[in-house]
Amino acid sequence: MAHQNGSFPRITYQQQLQLLQQQQQQVLIQQQHHLQQRHQQHQRQQQQQLEQHPRVSTNIIANGHVAGPQNQRLSLTPCSTRLRSDPKQDHKPDNYEDLQLGFDPRVFSSLEQYMPPDMLNKPRDVKAQYMSSILMRYSSEGDRVRIQKHKEYRQKIMSTYQPLYKEIYTMDAENFFVPSFLDAIRENTEAGFRRILAEPTRGIYTFEMLQPEFCEMLVSEVDNFERWVHESKIKIMRPNTMNKFGVVLDDFGMESMLDKLMKDFIRPLSRVFFAEFGGCSLDTHHGFIVEYGIHRDRELGSLKSNIFAGFHVDDSEVTLNVCLGKEFSGGELFFRGARCDAHVNSDSQLEEIFDYSHVPGQAILHSGRHRHGAKATVSGKRMNLILWCRSSTFREMIKYQRAFAGWCGECRRKKKERERLSIAATKQELLKRRMAL
Ligand SMILES: [Zn+2]
Repeated sequence: MAHQNGSFPRITYQQQLQLLQQQQQQVLIQQQHHLQQRHQQHQRQQQQQLEQHPRVSTNIIANGHVAGPQNQRLSLTPCSTRLRSDPKQDHKPDNYEDLQLGFDPRVFSSLEQYMPPDMLNKPRDVKAQYMSSILMRYSSEGDRVRIQKHKEYRQKIMSTYQPLYKEIYTMDAENFFVPSFLDAIRENTEAGFRRILAEPTRGIYTFEMLQPEFCEMLVSEVDNFERWVHESKIKIMRPNTMNKFGVVLDDFGMESMLDKLMKDFIRPLSRVFFAEFGGCSLDTHHGFIVEYGIHRDRELGSLKSNIFAGFHVDDSEVTLNVCLGKEFSGGELFFRGARCDAHVNSDSQLEEIFDYSHVPGQAILHSGRHRHGAKATVSGKRMNLILWCRSSTFREMIKYQRAFAGWCGECRRKKKERERLSIAATKQELLKRRMAL
């Protein structure tokens, strides 16, 4: 059975649904509780303010909230709270990096050009407050708390961890990639890409990508990080529940390097080969290392067989998986066809069965919806760099798509079956008519 995101091993889809519903229920209860508290706090503040400034009147702003004296200096009227539809290009936005805001400071700088004309020259904190009130409508309290906590977690790691090789934290294409890969990306044509990659089965591409020296440095860096985690006894988040021994590269300083890797080196390929999965609009990623091997197996104990047999789809539109070494045997990837949500547990067709043996430095690129798993690493130790590439545009788009997915093997099989039945029925009808004549 295939499970999604690698997050819920060994349970059925029904159980996953129940779990999700329970989690959502809990989040809702927490949110309601938090809102109640905020409401009570707000009422208390208002009462205090009224007692302190009895003559200050309150005014109603556009969204119907009663604004106390702290909002008074905004003096918003309903029409001035609207964002403009075209940005004011020549307006130089403020920098919000040093403010403690619930959203990424870059969002504020970008949004500023869309503010109503009378807001543009207000003090920075007034503008920040105005934009926060708009952004609040797009993100739940729970999401904001989660994002803030994760930010603090990353800052905590990066302020103490000493990198072994600083040079691999910034993109250095000449030293990271093999020349054939670099040339093909620079040429940026389908013919050029086809020269360096193989497509052993529908929708799976393999090619030489990383230089051995870079692979070695990355492996040593991860080993160094793991040592630091062990020594400092810090509790770190693993990439997902399927990979108990991996590390999230984005959490210790490699986020911007991996963002460049996705945008400048993977997107040119996915634009051509994964267009139907939003390959041209990949905009976020989750980059991590998975570690398998004899030493890890022993620690996994009884979980071993289940972890390695984990058959799943990724939480990505396009997945890049590059083997970094070291010496190992086993650990083959097995693929069983791409599936839409409705057909994720359907049988595989013979032509969809494909097994792949890792070669250090070599990359495999596939759709996140391509069902797969890894066989046990029999001996030695294996490390793989994995980049889940996502497209927010694609995720928004599929909400409105009809049930048929051209890339789903089962959707295609069912369509063919319907066509076959329809042809058979027409033949039968014609035969009947001929007999009647
Ligand atoms: Zn389907």
